[in-house]
Amino acid sequence: MIVILKNGITKEEKDKVASTLKGYGFIVKEIVGENDTVLGAVGSSHVDPRIIELLPGVSSVVPISKPYKLASRELKKDDTIVKVGRVSIGGNRVCVMAGPCAVESYDQIMAIAEKVREAGAVMLRGGAFKPRTSPYSFQGLGEEGLKYLQAAGKAFDMPIVTEVVSPLDVEMMIQYIDMFQIGARNMQNFELLKAVGKTGMPVLLKRGMSATIEEWLMAAEYLMSSGTDKVVLCERGIRTYERATRNTLDVSAVPVVRKLSHLPIIGDPSHATGIRDMVSPMSLSLIAAGASGIEVEVHNNPEKACSDGPQSLYPQQFEKLMRDIEALCPVIGKTLEKTPRIIPESIKEASVDLSSPLEGRETVVAFQGERGAFSELATRRFFNEDVKVLACHFFKDAFDAIASGKANFGVIPVENALGGAVYDPLDLIKTHSELKVVGETEIRVVHNLIGFPGTDIKDIKKVYSHPQAIAQCKEFLEREMPWAEAIPFFDTAGAVGFVKNNGDKSIAAIAGSPAALYHGMEILRQGIETNPSNYTRFYVLTREENAEEFIKGRKKEKASFLFNVSDEPGALMKVLEILYQRGLNMQKLESRPIPGKPWEYTFYVDALIPASIDFDETCKEIAASSVGFRLLGVYENGIL
Ligand code: PEP
Ligand code: MN
Repeated sequence: MIVILKNGITKEEKDKVASTLKGYGFIVKEIVGENDTVLGAVGSSHVDPRIIELLPGVSSVVPISKPYKLASRELKKDDTIVKVGRVSIGGNRVCVMAGPCAVESYDQIMAIAEKVREAGAVMLRGGAFKPRTSPYSFQGLGEEGLKYLQAAGKAFDMPIVTEVVSPLDVEMMIQYIDMFQIGARNMQNFELLKAVGKTGMPVLLKRGMSATIEEWLMAAEYLMSSGTDKVVLCERGIRTYERATRNTLDVSAVPVVRKLSHLPIIGDPSHATGIRDMVSPMSLSLIAAGASGIEVEVHNNPEKACSDGPQSLYPQQFEKLMRDIEALCPVIGKTLEKTPRIIPESIKEASVDLSSPLEGRETVVAFQGERGAFSELATRRFFNEDVKVLACHFFKDAFDAIASGKANFGVIPVENALGGAVYDPLDLIKTHSELKVVGETEIRVVHNLIGFPGTDIKDIKKVYSHPQAIAQCKEFLEREMPWAEAIPFFDTAGAVGFVKNNGDKSIAAIAGSPAALYHGMEILRQGIETNPSNYTRFYVLTREENAEEFIKGRKKEKASFLFNVSDEPGALMKVLEILYQRGLNMQKLESRPIPGKPWEYTFYVDALIPASIDFDETCKEIAASSVGFRLLGVYENGIL
C-alpha cells in the first residue's frame, strides 16, 4: 500500500508511522516526490488500512493494484535515475554501455575499452561468466576476467557491468564490479535475485527469453524487496516463432514498462537480433521508443571472437551508431549521457555564500523562470537530474546569483531556432565581466496543453502561457479549440502553477512536460507547437575564477566573444577577415545597441575553433582590430 503523508508531518510522527508498518511485518520505503512524501509498505502482511490512516501525519492510504509493488509507477511517479559510479541511467538520459560479449584476454578488453570509450560509450560491458547453451562452448575467464575488466574500466574511466550466474560468486564479484547483470536465462533464478538484491548494488536485469512483462517486473520486485533500489531493466528480445533473427526484439515493451514502472529501461539490440547489421537500426528504434540507453556488443576482431562474433559490431560501426544516436537524441527530447561532469571541489567551496540559505559544497545552478521551466530541463540535461537548482524570476537575478556565489553556475538561453536571439542575457553578459561561458547545451522545445487531470479540452475556455509559446501553438489553438481565449503570462511553467492554484477546471496552460510533472497536472495534448524544429540554445556560465578548472580536460571547440568597432568603413569587415583567415567557422553574429551611444553596436560572435590554430594569438589579432574585445569563453561544442 501507499501511505501518503501530510505535508507538515514531523520526523517523530513519520518514524512512528514507519515503525508501526514494520511492526505489522511490512518492508517500508520512503519516497520523496516533488509534491509529497509517501511510504511504500509491501509484503505479505495484512492490516486494515484505516488503522494506518488514523495515525498522526498520515493523509491517506492507497492500495497498489499491481502484483509488483516497489517497482510500480503507482508507488513512485517520478522516473528513477540509477547511478552507477558517476553515470546516470534513466529519465531523459541515453546511456550507452558497450564492449565485447566476453572478456577474452587483458589485451582484448583493454583495446575494445579504448575504442568504445573514444566513440562515446560511458559504461563497459564484458562477460566473465558466460551462461552458454552448450557446455562445450567458451565459459568465460571467471575471476581472472573480472580483474581484466576492472583494469579496463579504471583505465578508461568507465563503470563496468558484467553477468553474475551463481549466488556463490556474488560476494567475490563485489570487489571488482560496478553493476551486476542478471542474464535472460537467470531472470527467474530467485535465489540469485535475492543474493544480488541484498548487496544494494546497481543491477541490470535482462528480460527472460519467454518472460511476460509482468514476470519481468516481478523479478525486479525480488531484487528490490531484497535490498536494492538500483534496478535497470533491459529488453533483449524474446522467443517467438520467427527465425530470421535470433530473438524478436519487443520494442513495445519499452513504452509499456515506462508506463507500468518508474525503473529505467534500456535495450540490448545485439542479443535481440543476433546479426551485426540489424544492431544499429534496432538501437535507434529502442531509443526512439523511449529507452534510456542500450547495451551493445562491440569487438575488435569479431571473426575471432570466443562468443557472439556475428552480432558484434566493428568499432567503426559503433562509432557511426554513436553519431546517429547523438543526432537522434535532441529530436526526441533526450540527452546522450557523456563523460560525467565532475564539479571540482574548489568550485563547490568557492560558492559557499554565508548569507544564503543554500547549503555549501553543493552544485547549485541558477536559471530564469519557475520550477519546471524549459531552462530547468536544459540545466538537468547539461548537469544531472539531481543537481540543485535556483529558480530566478528575472534574468538579472540569475546573473546576480552566479556573480555573488549563491549559485555555482547558470544555464541561460541565448537563442531560439525560430524566435532568434534572446536579448536580455546577451546584454547582461556584457555587464557581468566576472562571468565566463564554459559550456553550451540545446533542448527541443515541445509545448503541451496542460490542465487538471481528466479535463476535456471542450470545457477549456482560457489558455495561459508566455506570448511566444502562444504564438508557437497558434495553429493548434485555432484548429482544435477556436473558442478558447489565449492569455499572455510571464512564464510557461509559471502559467501551469497559476492554473493549478486557481483551481478552475475551465482554464489550462501551455508549457513543457516538466512543468506538468512538477505541479502534478495532466498533459491534455502533447506536442502542440506548429513547427517541431523548435530548439533553444543555452550558455552555461560560471564565475571567471572557476572557469579554467571546469573546462580543464574538455575539448575547446567553440568560442564566444564580443567586441565593438570604430566608426569607419570596413571596421567589422576587418574582424571578419581575421576569422576567415584563421579558419574560424562563425556560427552566430549578433549585434546589440550600446546604451548611451546611439547607433553604436556591440557584436557577439560564436565560432568553431579549428584544432590547428593558436587561438590565443587569434584573440590578440581580433583585439587589435577592434575596440573592447572580450573573450566570453571557450568550451565544448554542445550543438550538432
Ligand atoms: C549477455 O549480455 O552477455 C547475455 C548473455 O545476454 P542475455 O542474457 O540477454 O542472453
Ligand atoms: Mn553475448
